[in-house]
Amino acid sequence: MYGPRILAIAAAGALLFESAAQAQSVDWKKQQAETLRHHRALIQIDSSSPPGNETKVDNYLKQVFEAEGISVKMFALQPDRANLVARLKGNGKKRPLLLMAHTDVVRVQREKWPVDPFGAVLKDGYIWGRGSRDDKDKLAANLMVMLLAKRMGVALDRDIIFLAESGEEADPAGVGIAYMVSQHFDEIDAEFALTEGGGARLENGRVTRVSIQTTEKVPRRFRLVATGTSGHGSVPRLDNPLTHLSAAVAKVGTYVMPMRLNETTRTYFEKLAGISPPEDAARYRELLGANPPQNIQTYFAQKEPEHYSTLRTSIVPTILKAGVGPNVIPSVVEATFDVRALPDEDIPKMFSDLTKLIADPQVKVEPITANLRPVASASRLDSEMYRALEKASAAIYPGATVLPTMSTGATDMAQLRAKGIQAYGIGPASTEADTINYGAHSDVERLPESSLYSLVEFTWRAAMDVAAAK
Ligand SMILES: [Zn+2]
Repeated sequence: MYGPRILAIAAAGALLFESAAQAQSVDWKKQQAETLRHHRALIQIDSSSPPGNETKVDNYLKQVFEAEGISVKMFALQPDRANLVARLKGNGKKRPLLLMAHTDVVRVQREKWPVDPFGAVLKDGYIWGRGSRDDKDKLAANLMVMLLAKRMGVALDRDIIFLAESGEEADPAGVGIAYMVSQHFDEIDAEFALTEGGGARLENGRVTRVSIQTTEKVPRRFRLVATGTSGHGSVPRLDNPLTHLSAAVAKVGTYVMPMRLNETTRTYFEKLAGISPPEDAARYRELLGANPPQNIQTYFAQKEPEHYSTLRTSIVPTILKAGVGPNVIPSVVEATFDVRALPDEDIPKMFSDLTKLIADPQVKVEPITANLRPVASASRLDSEMYRALEKASAAIYPGATVLPTMSTGATDMAQLRAKGIQAYGIGPASTEADTINYGAHSDVERLPESSLYSLVEFTWRAAMDVAAAK
């Protein structure tokens, strides 16, 4: 009786093969012209914010989607700064996948540009333009994934949601992610999300590492406010608030929070050690030990400040406001601090510890509570999505090491993660020099044309892996 059973297995196998093969069977060379056309068209719409005018970008996307028979919805707190959502329906077996990119870009200083910043000029193998890699590359890649899946009629186990969000770069009014999460969360609720925040390192024409952002530090701010008796500069006073504030700033500004690794940073340094020159590798491994020696930590503070920031909550003085005249003792002076906390930091305890450290009743610690980003736990390293990203990396960037990363800066993934979405930051491949000199928010921004195409394929593979019907 095994004959029919084998047939049944073969039939099931064929079905499985069909959706998997479908997802793999894209002729990528053939997609390049269209990918480039969309990417360039998106850059050519000036959406620098403020004011943003993201609705212009949405109108372009709307026309592309509707020409393919994909309907869109626009959600706008302010008419010029809309968000756009499109959805490919799956069979509902699994919760949706969200592909998110922002439509605004940072402003430009035109005199710094060798080409028109909104020309999307092709030169030397690069696409030049504001937004070419922040974030219209992801926007174009997500668009291509939607179009291809629709054209190929890929059967889906989960919906794929496309979100073009406004106001990522500058959003005092909360028109972007805050609005979508608070007012239209049903439209974007998902199990997984892919968006900006990661990248890939090109070295000698080959991608050697792929960074997937899985968590980020939590921005918090506070002021130290010192008060005393005002008076004439000719009469010294022991309660001069400037003297008291200066002592407090010196204490807090040099205070070192305890070092602590989490799953992401531990895995990051382990993997980084595996691909680093021996001396660097030895230092990364020392960080993984029970009590990393002080001289190693000092080395990072001096030589690798970004790595140092991932080791602990950082507390950095950024603004001093003090004094009204050279012969006047002020009655109130203040200093502002930028805190970038580890995701699991006990922030109220940190503030009370700082008060104890300052130990001066004339100086108060005042947390700034406006526009706080939510605290959220890290996205998992053992999820179906993370594994799909590792598989996509192995396929497209063979031999590259995948590193989970914790951003020291904040992203709109904080809001998604706080709502329970496992969000992962990805990005295009670039040399280190290009990332520094022509990266996001640089005077001049550019993306290797080939990196745009591999980003589309990377996003496609990862998306199909978790969403195509199995
Ligand atoms: Zn961005």
